[in-house]
Amino acid sequence: MLRTILIVAAVLAAVLAGAFWWLMLADSKAPAEAPGLLSFEDWRAQLPSDTSQLPTEIRVLEIGRDKAPGFAARAGGFGTDWNTTYNSVQIVWPDKTLIIDGAIDAETAAGMKQSETDWAFDPAAYDTLTAAMLAADQVLLTHEHLDHVMAVARHPDPEALAPRLVLNAPQIAAMPIFARGTLDPAIADLVPRLDGSVQQVAPGVIVIPVPGHTPGSQLVYIRLQDGGEFLLIGDVAWSLGAVETLTTRPVLTQYIVFDPNEDRSAVKAQLRALYDLMAANPDLAVIPAHDGDHIKALIAEGRLTKGFTPAP
Ligand SMILES: [Zn+2]
Ligand SMILES: [Zn+2]
Repeated sequence: MLRTILIVAAVLAAVLAGAFWWLMLADSKAPAEAPGLLSFEDWRAQLPSDTSQLPTEIRVLEIGRDKAPGFAARAGGFGTDWNTTYNSVQIVWPDKTLIIDGAIDAETAAGMKQSETDWAFDPAAYDTLTAAMLAADQVLLTHEHLDHVMAVARHPDPEALAPRLVLNAPQIAAMPIFARGTLDPAIADLVPRLDGSVQQVAPGVIVIPVPGHTPGSQLVYIRLQDGGEFLLIGDVAWSLGAVETLTTRPVLTQYIVFDPNEDRSAVKAQLRALYDLMAANPDLAVIPAHDGDHIKALIAEGRLTKGFTPAP
């Protein structure tokens, strides 16, 4: 009898260990190489030769924040914290602005709360964002997930916003899920203004499609007048540490966070390409949308500016 109990216990332990390994650690490492995936020289070649046309600064407006375990953003990152930020980015020229990402609204932020002590939502910042979108020349999204689109899908003045939206087809297709009630026709009937190629959308701002985390995911490369170079990577990685360690999210996130699932192979290849890009270009600031600590550090260094400015 004891022998049977021991065998059953051993089998059970092995099954649990296997499940733990599969859900938390497996299939998370980037491949050894991802040649040709990101071509930095091609992006730079699209920049205007007259540097006075480039933007002068990049500003970040935090709408909300939270804290989650580090292993959610990077498989195996046990014992670390992931200080999550929900934000929007404003690119500033002397005569115009461009906004990237629509963050979350209060209802969505409350529904995603992870930490009772570290969660926060700033309603005034959300209002600043919806107003700044109407003053911007263009509004873009890194991708179509709920924590990046709410100030678009639930904007109080969709008719005024629509002409400013520069989205790709998968991003537009996702909007109806996030509407309260029926999506306003001004947003529902949007025509894609990005065609899935590497495109300069304004002087010094280039979008690079990277389907994987979602079909509509894209990187945004920005070069400033002072020569500073930035790469917004949306949610390709949730923390810079994930790129630095070539380790993506655990498989568990596929079951509890994403619906539909990510293209995991594509994301892992992109991590490798980003890692190689950073190694070859150490001055390029690579910015995952939710890495609160990294964004705070870039603000402290003066490379990013906190909060939005009224459009010129
Ligand atoms: Zn996402
Ligand atoms: Zn996100």
